[in-house]
Amino acid sequence: MSLIPRSTNINPNEKFDTIIIGLGPAAYSAALYAARYMLKTLVIGETPGGQLTEAGEVDDYLGLIGVQASEMIKLFNAHVEKYKVPVLMDRVESFKREGEEYVVKTKRKGEFRASTLIVAVGTKRRKLNVPGENEFIGRGVSYCSVCDAPLFKNRPVVVVGGGNSALDGAELLSRYATKVYLVHRREEFRAQPIIVKLVKEKPNVELILNSVVKEIKGDKLVRKVVVQNMKTGEVREIDANGIFVEIGFEPPTEFAKINGLEVDEQGYIKVDDWTRTNLPGVFAAGDCTNKWIGFRQVATSTAMGAVAAHSAYNYLNERKGKT
Ligand code: NAP
Repeated sequence: MSLIPRSTNINPNEKFDTIIIGLGPAAYSAALYAARYMLKTLVIGETPGGQLTEAGEVDDYLGLIGVQASEMIKLFNAHVEKYKVPVLMDRVESFKREGEEYVVKTKRKGEFRASTLIVAVGTKRRKLNVPGENEFIGRGVSYCSVCDAPLFKNRPVVVVGGGNSALDGAELLSRYATKVYLVHRREEFRAQPIIVKLVKEKPNVELILNSVVKEIKGDKLVRKVVVQNMKTGEVREIDANGIFVEIGFEPPTEFAKINGLEVDEQGYIKVDDWTRTNLPGVFAAGDCTNKWIGFRQVATSTAMGAVAAHSAYNYLNERKGKT
């Protein structure tokens, strides 16, 4: 089983029932369901697995007990390949409606046409926007504990955030780093209680609560992280060679704006219970939508992907009925 889908050459004149934009769990699930509804389907995306590529062991997807995320992506790929759904490794820049169809413009391989679209573009990582952050990216500043934890063996590190990503990251890093300082801006964590308990029990994890990062300092590499307690005002310089920024994700506001998709007040694509957006024949699924914010799971994304394919199928049938 491969991590990368079979590469596909698509004739630009070929017209699809649906084009799925994205290659994360929501997109894979939409592709599977669309194929089973026998819709002529094309998937266009750049990163097989999406955010799942940044996960380690996954133990909250029913039936796959303690599976590595990379294995899960291979399984998703294999399942979609079974139905011979073509996957184009490219980036969708925009789409526009022309008559009864949508024309999807990609970065490298040109334009493709479909009657419906399923947008599953995910989200981007949020940054701290403090001095030193950009300067030390790749030299101690990381946004992915799972990817970079082993690089910090026997070194002290800081993890920032209070959600599942930060707590998962702190737990993983505690197995490599000499010391993990977990900096969170509040007293309470929003991560799942089971992982909070696990982290609190780690002897080499120190919680620095009600605190924010003010600056990252170093020379060739990160040497210090400056944090401030927001209640007392006290400033502390922590000796650390790494800082893992795990503070959540930014909504796909720009992509939505370019394509005329309505967003909520936070910038997530607005969908109804059937994943319908404000545009006819355009559905959206997964983290890019305004559904279940704060509970982003592989399970919720795959559920939405399935619903989106079902809705696209119904939309096409209803349209056929009218012609
Ligand atoms: P998240 O749940 O949005 O949490 C982000 C954390 O960063 C929050 O604790 C937030 O603080 C803090 N934060 C946000 N902006 C900040 C800033 N500018 N400075 C300092 N702190 C800031 O993000 P996530 O942990 O990356 O998780 C994203 C989604 O993926 C969630 O739905 C999560 O459940 C899911 N996920 C699930 C798993 C799993 O099930 N194992 C693993 C990873 C992620 P406040 O709490 O004060 O807002």
